[in-house]
This record gives sequence, C-alpha cells and structure tokens, in this order.
Amino acid sequence: ATPTSIMVGTGRGADMGVLFRQGSALQALQQANGVIFDKTGTLTKGEPELDQWLTVDADDKQSLRLAASLEQRSEHPTAEALVDFAKQEHPLSEVDKFEALSGLGVIGQVEGHDVLVGSKTLMKEHDIGLQKSPDGVDKWIENGLTPIYVAIDGQLTAAFCVSDPIRDSAKALIQSLHQRGLKTAMVTGDAESTAKRIAEQVGIDKVVAEVKPDGKVDAVQQLQQQWGKVVFVGDGINDAPALATADVGFAIGTGTDVAIESANVVLMSDNLNVVQQAFALSKVTMRNIS
Ligand code: ADP
Ligand code: MG
Repeated sequence: ATPTSIMVGTGRGADMGVLFRQGSALQALQQANGVIFDKTGTLTKGEPELDQWLTVDADDKQSLRLAASLEQRSEHPTAEALVDFAKQEHPLSEVDKFEALSGLGVIGQVEGHDVLVGSKTLMKEHDIGLQKSPDGVDKWIENGLTPIYVAIDGQLTAAFCVSDPIRDSAKALIQSLHQRGLKTAMVTGDAESTAKRIAEQVGIDKVVAEVKPDGKVDAVQQLQQQWGKVVFVGDGINDAPALATADVGFAIGTGTDVAIESANVVLMSDNLNVVQQAFALSKVTMRNIS
C-alpha cells in the first residue's frame, strides 16, 4: 500500500462523508468477512417516540412524574421520548440521586422514592417481578415493540413502549453487503423479540439480543472466530468496547462521543449507504496499490 493511494482514498472517503481516522482502516476493510450492527440509533433512527404508557394501578399519578424526572438526567433517546411525553402534563421534579446503567436503564432517587426505569434485564437484576405487568405489555412484545419498565420503591408500577423507525437506507445496505459476499449480524441491548422483528425487516439473519456492553464484545469475538475479520457499526456508549474489539469500528457521527473515540471510521452521513461505499472505496484503493 503506497501512502499516496491511501491518502487519496481517505480524501475521497471524506468527500462522501466517511472519515477514516487511520489509513490502515481503509486497508483492513478489504479483508473483512462480516459486518455487525448495533440496532438502536444505528439501524433505526434513534429518535423514538412514546407510543403507550400503562400503569399497574389505574389511579397511579406519580409513576410518570417520578420516572420522567429521573430520565431528565439520561442522554438515552428513550429517556428523551419519556420526558417529552410527561412534560406535556406534569411539571418534573429535581433528581436527588442518578446513575445511568449503560444498555439497561437508569436508577436513582426522586422525591424520596427509589426509582428504576429500564429493560426487563434491569428489572431482573433488581429482583423486580414482572408478573403484574399492565395488561397490554404482552401485545407490545408480540408486535416487536420494546417494553420499558418503571419500578418505584421496589415494585413494578408502570411500563411504556416507544417506536423508533428503521432508517430508510438500512434494507438496501444489508442487501448490497450480502451481494459483496459479506455476512451480517445485529447485536443489541434491546429485547429479543424487538430485535428479531427489526432484523427480519432489514434482512439480517443473525441476532444477538439482550446483551450488555461486555456481551457485545463477546458477540464480536465469537463472530471473529466464526467469520474472520469483522466490522462493527454502532452509535452508543454501550457500543464503545465492541467498536474497539472489532477489526474495524464504524461510529455513527451523530452518536455519542465515546463511540466516536473508540471507532476507526466515523460516518458523517445519515444515509447508511456510505457503509457500502466505504467497502467499494477500500476495494478500489487496494486494487490501485497491487
Ligand atoms: P442498543 O444496543 O440497541 O443500542 P440501547 O443501548 O439503546 O440498545 O439499550 C438497550 C436497552 O436498555 C433499551 O432497549 C432500553 O430497554 C434500555 N435502556 C437503556 N437506557 C435507558 C434509559 N435511559 N431509559 C430506559 N431504558 C433504557
Ligand atoms: Mg445504539
């Protein structure tokens, strides 16, 4: 590989919105056998809206206020959807204690109550029984929507679901990657049923769901053993370790700073087709070299 052709290649990449932070990433792409995608914010737009809010107790007025108050401190798109929804009806409260649990949810204290908002996995970890889930949650799961649970003082009190549209460019990208002979997979912290539904819609056949950040790393390592060299595409804090583990890490440019810092390549376009163009560019660049 001559330094000049790499420089020309990375320059062309920049023109189309693909920033190669190291020239070596352009070379490495040529050897990749598979591409692994995060779901939320990567294959989907990452701009969820709250679809439905359900409480266990019909008279419950406080769960929404407490949950949304806590989520004011979170940067997660789901949190934003809840806050937007709640704000229309309730003034929100100060947060006394807050911790974000990457890929799981948030935990803290509001108005003297212990508040927990997040995934099924998060509830399990805190021994919150989901048997009393509001009527309707099962339907969400069947339909591929993600339930987010709310527990106050150790009891499940409410659940909500958000919908996050798939990026228009996702399906065509997966098709063109398959045409290039690349394998594809999705690795997500989201619920299995939701993940499978989205994977089906975009044409990805391998899904690893309900994993935390280190679970994403495990999945990347396993796929490296099965496939060889892999690219990981992600946007979130919970993707950073996986981006660093993959042979080439692609971060969505509008994603979190930690993801961008852990990646070799940054995508400045919201059209996912640039991923495919990056492979094409790598091929052309390497061909010019040999
Ligand atoms: P992905 O791996 O697909 O990008 P996320 O990082 O968005 O998934 O997180 C996985 C799951 O963790 C979400 O589907 C949601 O259930 C839960 N979660 C993470 N952060 C929050 C939050 N601030 N509020 C509620 N749920 C959250
Ligand atoms: Mg994400």
